[in-house]
Amino acid sequence: MNSEQRYKRQISLPEIGDEGQQRLQKASVLCVGAGGLGSPALLYLAAAGIGRIGIIDFDHVDLSNLQRQILFTVNEIGSSKAELAKKKLLSLNPEIDIEVYNEQLNAQNVENLFQSYDLIIDGTDNFETKFLINDAAIKYQKPWIYGAIQGFDGQVSVFDALYGPCYRCLYPEKPKIHIANCAESGVIGAVAGIIGVTQALQAIQMIVKHKSFAPLVGKLWVIDSHTMETKTLSIPKNPACPTCSKEHQDIALNFSSPVCYFIPEVSPEQVCMMKNIVLIDVREQEEWDAGHIDGALHHPLSEIKKENMPVRHQDKDIVLYCRKGFRSLEAARLLKDCGFPDIYSLSGGYEAWVKKSSPSRQNETEV
Ligand SMILES: [Zn+2]
Repeated sequence: MNSEQRYKRQISLPEIGDEGQQRLQKASVLCVGAGGLGSPALLYLAAAGIGRIGIIDFDHVDLSNLQRQILFTVNEIGSSKAELAKKKLLSLNPEIDIEVYNEQLNAQNVENLFQSYDLIIDGTDNFETKFLINDAAIKYQKPWIYGAIQGFDGQVSVFDALYGPCYRCLYPEKPKIHIANCAESGVIGAVAGIIGVTQALQAIQMIVKHKSFAPLVGKLWVIDSHTMETKTLSIPKNPACPTCSKEHQDIALNFSSPVCYFIPEVSPEQVCMMKNIVLIDVREQEEWDAGHIDGALHHPLSEIKKENMPVRHQDKDIVLYCRKGFRSLEAARLLKDCGFPDIYSLSGGYEAWVKKSSPSRQNETEV
């Protein structure tokens, strides 16, 4: 009865009706990112009664987000976006299920996540994650709703591997022009709102499937909000596309995080003061065999690069070291990409450790 009351203004539309509402309630949607696009999209999807919504976002609220990320308020700066989004959406509509993933989407977690949902919404702001979403969506045969904004311009499309071209038919690879890493380009919050809400509407159309709906499969809807001029362009399927020209089981997923992680470096003296840590030597076998820090574990960078990650140690910080402290920084960034939370790099590496442990002997060997 309550549900009827809640949704009556959309159920009364013949294109939705009871049948459409049931489809919405049975549907599951994963939103990648709860930021400028994800905030408005999630609010409308929750309000419309999508039965199960997943939110993946590893970020925390910052003051500079509030200009467009309308799920959050000033009192919530520093809190997890995914957790806050869940709280807000459940207070808007307690009749739906919300699942949160406080992590970054990557090549390792994407399969489980995508297999658990009917449809994916792209609320990201970088090519790397959009390519991952695209490639995984084709591999696991899930439709996804693309959105992008830059300044006054916005775009929306629906990519459905079964019926149309894919994102890489449009952009085969990241543009060669220099894009400042970790620097956000300008955006008007209201334009993010238009695009996020349009993505939510596309999701509703894809789920309800009324014959009068023509979602943007194979089409790119663009808006220039200087003039409010809109265009809908056809995206041709590229027969040589690096992704959708392949059999779906042959698509390899690659992801290098666009996020600039700050890896704290610690000196040998600081390591000695740290409690509850695991030291991991990321040098290669022969270097480890020639000598290593007592009690350290060995997990070479070459293995990490093959996505063979070390075992996680609950509640322990990880300090990585190599010979001089450069490979350990690289390894730390790769582990961060895979969701390892607290990682440090030993500054100066094993050489600095040996020097600290036996300064006189080190001097002798150098002579
Ligand atoms: Zn393609």
